[in-house]
Amino acid sequence: MIPESFEYHVPRTLEEAAQLIAQFGDDGKLLAGGHSLVPMMKLRLASPKHLVDLGRLDGLRYILEKDGWLEIGALTTHYRIESSSLLKEKCPLLPMTAREIGDVQVRNKGTLGGNLAHADPAADWPAAIVALEAELKAVSAAGERWIPASEFFVGLMATSLSPGEILTAIRFPLLPPRTGDAYIKHPHPATGFAVVGVAARVTLNEKGAVETAQVGITGVGLAAYRASAVENEIRGKLPTAKNLQQAASHAAEGVEANDDLYASAEYRAHLATVYTERALAAAAERAAKK
Ligand SMILES: Cc1cc2nc3c(=O)[nH]c(=O)nc-3n(C[C@H](O)[C@H](O)[C@H](O)COP(=O)(O)OP(=O)(O)OC[C@H]3O[C@@H](n4cnc5c(N)ncnc54)[C@H](O)[C@@H]3O)c2cc1C
Repeated sequence: MIPESFEYHVPRTLEEAAQLIAQFGDDGKLLAGGHSLVPMMKLRLASPKHLVDLGRLDGLRYILEKDGWLEIGALTTHYRIESSSLLKEKCPLLPMTAREIGDVQVRNKGTLGGNLAHADPAADWPAAIVALEAELKAVSAAGERWIPASEFFVGLMATSLSPGEILTAIRFPLLPPRTGDAYIKHPHPATGFAVVGVAARVTLNEKGAVETAQVGITGVGLAAYRASAVENEIRGKLPTAKNLQQAASHAAEGVEANDDLYASAEYRAHLATVYTERALAAAAERAAKK
């Protein structure tokens, strides 16, 4: 339970961090909250020779509204998102998701950027990120770019970040009118991670029918995905129990569901349909009250 020895680096600027991580290549790892990386190092599933600690980069800890987006710095903790009054008002799905993560210690240390870069298939954030069509800012010694959420998660614990890129910010569209959000998860009884987690945003039209539904699902496959078949099925219909159930029946369509000791692939796929129905119903109910 003791990691292999490593060199520890504490850059004071983002530029310095980008230069260090570029210089170390495969021998280097970025450290944010340490709540995924340190356990992996202790288990020797990761043995970086150089750790580049982002912890002094206070400029990466913020939540603000800017140019019609809500932008969150990558080092912002789950707790800060959970307790943000700006987000509760303008993007409630984010505080709803944050409060489902681990326990208070984990939420106090773990960061949004670290969680997304780690890309654990059972992590909570990826469902909201894909549902909300977020954009993720990557900075390296060579420059910067925004990555659409639909292109960010590319497989089991794999993202489209290139070696040397640091995730610095994530931005989200503002909550439109007549819109409700919901995040509902089936937590693993031992770890609390999502066996299945469903993030839903529903916008109703003036007649009360579904104008758009956005559904992101984590825990089921190797990476979080957008449940397009569910969204297409419910669009234009009233959010009645029957219509929601029919739409949610497509939740695991086309996805090879994970299979482990706790949940077989069949059970996981079933949970996906049940939790999708519940998340859509909760989001539609909130939208109707707006
Ligand atoms: C007991 C426990 C329970 C937990 N329960 C849950 C849960 O229910 N749901 C859930 O979603 N998560 C859970 N987690 C994980 C937690 O949310 C972690 O905080 C998170 O996954 C990683 O974030 P971090 O800031 O700790 O990143 P770190 O552990 O520091 O880093 C994780 C990985 O991301 C890379 N990285 C970090 N920051 C960046 C960046 N800015 N740019 C590029 N790469 C970066 C690192 O190099 C590393 O590979 C739990 C963890 C623990 C210990």
